[in-house]
Amino acid sequence: DHGSVAHEEKEKIFVAVRLRPLNEREITCNDVSDWECINNTTIFYKNSMSERSLFPTACAYDRVFGYDCSTRQVYEEAAKGVALSVLSGINSSIFAYGQTSSGKTYTMSGITEYTLADIYDHICRNVDREFTLKFSAMEIYNEVVRDLLTPEDTPLRLLDDPERGTVVEKLTEITLKDWNHLKELLSVCEAQRKIGETALNEVSSRSHQILRLTVESTAKKFVGLNSSTLTAAVNFVDLAGSERASQTMSANVRLKEGSHINRSLLTLGTVIRKLSKKGNGHIPFRDSKLTRILQNSLGGNARTAIICTMSPAHSHVEQSRNTLLFATCAK
Ligand code: ADP
Ligand code: MG
Repeated sequence: DHGSVAHEEKEKIFVAVRLRPLNEREITCNDVSDWECINNTTIFYKNSMSERSLFPTACAYDRVFGYDCSTRQVYEEAAKGVALSVLSGINSSIFAYGQTSSGKTYTMSGITEYTLADIYDHICRNVDREFTLKFSAMEIYNEVVRDLLTPEDTPLRLLDDPERGTVVEKLTEITLKDWNHLKELLSVCEAQRKIGETALNEVSSRSHQILRLTVESTAKKFVGLNSSTLTAAVNFVDLAGSERASQTMSANVRLKEGSHINRSLLTLGTVIRKLSKKGNGHIPFRDSKLTRILQNSLGGNARTAIICTMSPAHSHVEQSRNTLLFATCAK
């Protein structure tokens, strides 16, 4: 029963690491895999004998997925409990964090679909409550928020609502008719992301995508005072490439790409680090668009899972280590 799981583990951030297989390009370049998952929770750096490094040889997380694990497994063991807490009225966020081409979108799109399928399944079997599902989608690019469900390209403003917290003004919210309707909307989002940009890779490496599913439910029969409406949202967040937050990003690269270090990504890192510590003091939610938008779905009573994706390739070792450092700080 997802309900009880939701209450047991609230507040603690679930941190998982997913290693993808070497891709064709890496294999063609005779790149080799540096990493191995030695059990369900530990990832091992195989090359530490050949270099002098202060980086730990083995790192442990809540769950580690090797290159042979399916997205279904990642969903079942790292995301499902957190995502389905939305059915009990608890807000949640699932993040994919990692360098560009490490598998964030691959992982997140699977998780989004599996979650939706399970939610529909739950709704069909639950005869006591009436459910409404609402879907919205946005992108944050250079601290500008855009709606992914409308062709209009007007930047969206964030407003502070005394009851609901930070609200994205004029964000399209569509009531889902069925499962196919959702699939249609997901392809609308995909198309919107490409508009105005020649290289999708460039956009997706710099922007954050938030898909948000809001679940409202009310008891069908009037049972005394228990007919209140439960409302909660689950956010699927496909983050900008983590190289955008890297301290090691050289001045040269920065100049060439004309890009800044990604403010939302850096702030998220700080917020997550503070949330994972006890007695965390001031949490700078308001320092970036991403953390403002997600404030109600991070910390407090909300539940959070982070899937850190990484390439096993030796050529990416620097970024892979940065990803694991982030994962360690989030624990
Ligand atoms: P990112 O979103 O982090 O930039 P993608 O999700 O687009 O990365 O993945 C890059 C490529 O690697 C894609 O072609 C994707 O299909 C493939 N890929 C990613 N993760 C896996 C995996 N676990 N198994 C097989 N292929 C993967
Ligand atoms: Mg991507």
